[in-house]
Amino acid sequence: MNYKDISASIPTGVTLVAVSKTKPAGEILKIYEQGQRVFGENKVQEMVDKYEQLPKNIEWHLIGHLQTNKVKYIAPFVTLIHAIDSLKLLAEVNKQAKKNQRTINCLLQFHIAQEETKFGLSIEEAQALLASETYQEMEHIQICGVMGMASFTTDQEQVASEFELLNSYFKQLKNNYFANDSHFQIKSMGMSGDYQLAIEHGSNMVRIGSLIFGAR
Ligand SMILES: *Cc1c(COP(=O)(O)O)cnc(C)c1O
Repeated sequence: MNYKDISASIPTGVTLVAVSKTKPAGEILKIYEQGQRVFGENKVQEMVDKYEQLPKNIEWHLIGHLQTNKVKYIAPFVTLIHAIDSLKLLAEVNKQAKKNQRTINCLLQFHIAQEETKFGLSIEEAQALLASETYQEMEHIQICGVMGMASFTTDQEQVASEFELLNSYFKQLKNNYFANDSHFQIKSMGMSGDYQLAIEHGSNMVRIGSLIFGAR
């Protein structure tokens, strides 16, 4: 599949994040020239290097696990951080956003897969985070929604049920903490192998790498 076909297969209202990790700037530029503006990276240093080399109207999304001590490198330019998985990390993002006199958009990452290895919050942890005074005093972050990665399996029913779980977390948080906050609207779920299923189950932001750029 080429970029045009993939982007045409994504309904209006669903944002395509082109996941360019491990791919050189030249390949990213080719996709950029076809109209793509949102790119996802999972490593801080790689994202910084590409930010410096590529057009400044690219929206850079950090999709991978983020270490607290690296937030400062991306704080000046990152558009959306997908993988907030602790209050400590969020506090550091708030601090670095303040230093840069901006507000940084963030998603809460949930652990929805069966695999042990994937990062992410439980719904209880997310609720504790959102109820905390520390969070409520943060003025330089905006929580815009949720992110999750489904199990790596061919079992479609399993994957679908995990997307539904993330959907239910989104609704719960929307009702309990963001009822009057129009920024809370993103459900980042779905990758090359499962993005159509994810969209069927309510995704409005898909992160697609290998399908666009080829295998890594
Ligand atoms: C690599 C990655 C993707 C894209 O995976 P593909 O299968 O290549 O589409 C999506 N989300 C995250 C968090 C990733 O690390």
